[in-house]
Amino acid sequence: MTRLIFLGPPGAGKGTQAHTLAEHLHIPHISTGDILRQAMKEQTPLGIKAQSYVDSGELVPDQLVQELVQERLGQPDAKSGWILDGFPRKVTQAVFLEELLETIHQSGERVVNLDAPDDVVVARLLARGRKDDSEEVIRRRLEVYRSETEPLIDYYRDRQKLLTVNGNQSQEEVTTELQKVIAF
Ligand code: AMP
Repeated sequence: MTRLIFLGPPGAGKGTQAHTLAEHLHIPHISTGDILRQAMKEQTPLGIKAQSYVDSGELVPDQLVQELVQERLGQPDAKSGWILDGFPRKVTQAVFLEELLETIHQSGERVVNLDAPDDVVVARLLARGRKDDSEEVIRRRLEVYRSETEPLIDYYRDRQKLLTVNGNQSQEEVTTELQKVIAF
C-alpha cells in the first residue's frame, strides 16, 4: 500500500513526479492545487472562495482545503493508496491529516521531501507561465513555502516519516532516485 505526501517548494517538480509515480502505481494523484484550479475554472462555490488566495500566492484557509481532502480521501479509489501533492502545507493541516488518516484507517503514510534551491525553482516557475506564476506571485509563494510549509520537514522527520530526494537534477534522475527511496 503506497500512501505518500509530496513536500517541496513550488517548482521543485512535485506535480510532475507525483503524476508519473501515481500512474506507475495505479493510485490517484491528489493535487489540492489542481483541484482548486479546476474549481476556479468552473466557478464552483469552492473555486469562488479560493480565487483571491490562489491568485495572490497566499494559502487558502485550512477549512476549505481540509474539507476537500477529506472528501477526496473518502472516495473508493483512495482505498488502494494515494499520492498527496500540495497538502498539507502547514502544521495545522498536518495535524488535521494525521487525525483524519487515523479515523479512516489510512495511516502509514510517508513523506517525500523534494527540495531544490530558490534560484532553480524560480527559473522553472517563470518558464512554466501559469496564471499564478508572475514574478511577484512566485516570490510570495516561495516566502509562504519557507515560513509555513518548510516547518513540516522537521515535523515529519521527528515522526520518522521523512524521505528526501534531490530535486535539483533532471526529471529522469529524480524519478530514479524517488523510486529507490520509496522501495524501502
Ligand atoms: P500548487 O498547485 O500546489 O502550487 O497550489 C497552488 C495554490 O493553491 C497555492 O499557491 C495556494 O493558494 C493553493 N493551495 C494549494 N494547496 C493548498 C493547501 N494545502 N493549503 C492552502 N492553500 C493551498
